[in-house]
Formats: sequence, structure tokens, C-alpha cells
Amino acid sequence: MNFAKAEFIRSAASPEQFLRDGLPQFAFAGRSNVGKSSVINRLLNRKNLAYVGSSPGKTSQVNYFLVDSRAYLVDLPGYGYAKVSRAEKERWGRLMERYFQEGGSYLTAGVLIVDARHKPTADDVTMHGWFRETGCPEIVVANKLDKLKKSQIDPALALIRETLELPEEGALVPFSAEKGIGKDTLAGLLNKACES
Ligand code: GDP
Repeated sequence: MNFAKAEFIRSAASPEQFLRDGLPQFAFAGRSNVGKSSVINRLLNRKNLAYVGSSPGKTSQVNYFLVDSRAYLVDLPGYGYAKVSRAEKERWGRLMERYFQEGGSYLTAGVLIVDARHKPTADDVTMHGWFRETGCPEIVVANKLDKLKKSQIDPALALIRETLELPEEGALVPFSAEKGIGKDTLAGLLNKACES
């Protein structure tokens, strides 16, 4: 699959607008500011297809990008932004619940983006559980790797594995959206998920 051939299709603010046309879907999730848009842009080789730095919390919508006419990259709304109102958080929760109930059946792989520098948050663990419940393969991306010293990398990855209880064979991709580290590995894993 050629990830450089991607186009924005639509934003869904409610479940009626979810896409259900049978094409495989890769869902990307991560807390606000973890660099989800940057990871998506890096993967798709674009500067600004997924909007970087969009005001956190105002993005309770599911964004669909069509990749190479073959699969959807689904950008799930970010979570965990402290200043979001309770009503907005509830809206987010309902939207995600519906996405995992309905869209879950189209999920070919889930991509959970965490911050390489930190222990995954409680929200990360919850999202990880939702991906696991769908039964689809999950790829964990540890972004912002460039912010770690070399000696810090292995312990940081071990902490992520331990907190998410990732099995030995579970995919954990060290990544830097800024430097382009991990891009080919992620693309390869997504391609593999699509083929199997
Ligand atoms: P989102 O809210 O998860 O979509 O996060 P954004 O993609 O908007 O990124 C949040 C901030 O982190 C921006 O200032 C990015 O430039 C920065 N950022 C994203 N990825 C990386 C990375 O790999 N390394 C570094 N150093 N900064 C990053």
C-alpha cells in the first residue's frame, strides 16, 4: 500500500457519519498532544493533512483518510486534555463507544500512540483495553523518541511494555514524527495487517 497516496474523506461528529463500506480501517488513537497528527502526517508523507496543533478538545470527531484507494486511516479524537468540559468528555466517550461497537468490525489494526518519555496514562491503558477487546492486532507507537537520550530508550520502552502488559511479540514501535524514525516499520506492520 502506498501511504503517500492519501486523501481526506470526511469527519464524523456522530455515529451516523461513520464509514461502513467494508474497506479495512486502521484506527489511530492517542492522548492530546502526544503527536498523533504528526505521526499520521509523517506516515502519509504530508505536512499538514492531519491538522497539527488543532485546539485540543474541540476535535471530538473521527477523521477518515483514504490510503491508496485500499484502506482508511481513521484518526480518532484525542483524549486526556485536562481543560475539556465534562460534557465534551462524555460526548467523546459516547462517540468512542459507538465507534468500537460498530466500526470495530471493520478494524484491521489499531495504532495506539504513547509518549516514549512517560509511563502510559490511565487513559492510554483504557484505550489499549478497547483495542484489545476488538481482537484486532494492535501496534503501539512510542512517539517523541528524539527527546530521549540513548541510554534512556530501553528502560522507557520496557516501562511502556510493562504498563500496557504487552506480550513479548506485541508490536512496540519506537518512533519520532519529527525525525522520521520508525516510519517504515509502522508502514510495514500496517501493510502486513492488511494482507493477513
Ligand atoms: P496531537 O494533539 O496528538 O495531534 O499532537 P500534534 O501532532 O499536534 O503534536 C503536538 C506537539 O508535539 C507539536 O508541537 C509537535 O510538533 C510535537 N511533536 C509531535 N511529534 C513529535 C516528535 O516525534 N518529536 C518531537 N520532539 N516533537 C513532536
